[in-house]
Amino acid sequence: MKYDYLVVGSGLFGSTFAYEAAKRGKRVKVIEKRNHIGGNIYTEDVDGIQVHKYGAHIFHTNDEEIWDYVNQFAAFNRYTNSPIANYKGEIYNLPFNMNTFYKLWGVTTPEEAKEEIEKQRKKAGIGEPKNLEEQAISLVGTDIYERLIKGYTEKQWGRKATDLPSFIIKRLPVRFTYDNNYFNDRYQGIPIGGYTQIVEKMLASDLIEIELNKDFFMNKDEYVQTYPKIIYTGMIDQFFDYTYGELEYRSLQFESTILNQENYQGNAVVNYTDAETPFTRIIEHKHFEFGNQHKTIITKEYPRKWKRGDEPYYPVNDDKNNEKYRKYRKLAEDQPNIIFGGRLGRYQYYDMHQVIAAALAVVKKEFR
Ligand code: FAD
Repeated sequence: MKYDYLVVGSGLFGSTFAYEAAKRGKRVKVIEKRNHIGGNIYTEDVDGIQVHKYGAHIFHTNDEEIWDYVNQFAAFNRYTNSPIANYKGEIYNLPFNMNTFYKLWGVTTPEEAKEEIEKQRKKAGIGEPKNLEEQAISLVGTDIYERLIKGYTEKQWGRKATDLPSFIIKRLPVRFTYDNNYFNDRYQGIPIGGYTQIVEKMLASDLIEIELNKDFFMNKDEYVQTYPKIIYTGMIDQFFDYTYGELEYRSLQFESTILNQENYQGNAVVNYTDAETPFTRIIEHKHFEFGNQHKTIITKEYPRKWKRGDEPYYPVNDDKNNEKYRKYRKLAEDQPNIIFGGRLGRYQYYDMHQVIAAALAVVKKEFR
């Protein structure tokens, strides 16, 4: 069969493009190196519980068009992300809000909370922040930093906060209301029955053929010669055979356990913010959908140093890597028949609503 497009990767970017192309009568071949579609938003039904296999995914957006778009493919529930922090057995609400401040200092009014933060910031006496530690303290004071930021961030990045650049924390959400809703967006929720159905529906057209367990690099030259146009959502440095060296990532390891109890931690997401606990969070999947099964499934999330062959989760967008990426981007611009997209193709962290928007922008340009 003759195809108009080859889409490399069946994540949200590739699938959105494939769906839109098929809607316009184009024939699309999708290849995916994993044994399932969906990329990192993939959820798996285990005993009626939707397990977020690649980390907790909560859909949120301010953009009504994107919200309506994604709602074509699934009905969403009213889940509101309200993570909890566990610091050495003490529980605090996130994001930092009046509930957190009350727990920390016993203060009950916004004025008292602001005064306390200001007192701590002044005492620390930081001028221009030289690293992440100084940046965080100058934003929220020492108590919040020590208990809720330091250990978590150091585990996440595998480096001391004093060795991390300050730009990682440009802003810290601080709220002087009793509001535990993590996001400020107008729309938020979890697709009832999981995320995989969204991608299944996107790829359901007769004009789309999917091939799983197929790595683009097994047949790169042939694909490039055969297909008139390629949407490539894999790693951009790999595409160019690491000509300028590797772009850095942080990786994650997930450890899931099925427990014979109804409710393990009473919340979908609990962050472990001390330095000693080796994982950063425990996800209890059933709470995303208010499940009442007799069992529960929890996943511990361990941050890992990335090396070639590992799953690349978070790009490390420091100056060194961004500079390298710019060089790869230049090479990409000289490939008129290849569109580089998604989080790996653009070496950029995208939330789901952003990746859909980015794919729709490419669609608009491609089919104008
Ligand atoms: P991916 O989902 O990574 O898809 C790329 C696909 O390409 C993969 O399936 C991969 O296997 C395939 N591929 C790569 N190379 C090749 C190759 N050589 N040959 C064939 N196939 C290949 N977003 C939110 O909005 N809310 C959240 O709460 C949220 N939580 C997150 C938590 C974690 C831990 C992570 C890592 C991300 C989170 N995200 C969240 C972001 C979300 O996962 C991304 O926006 C989305 O998955 C990006 O889609 P994508 O298509 O760009 O990439």
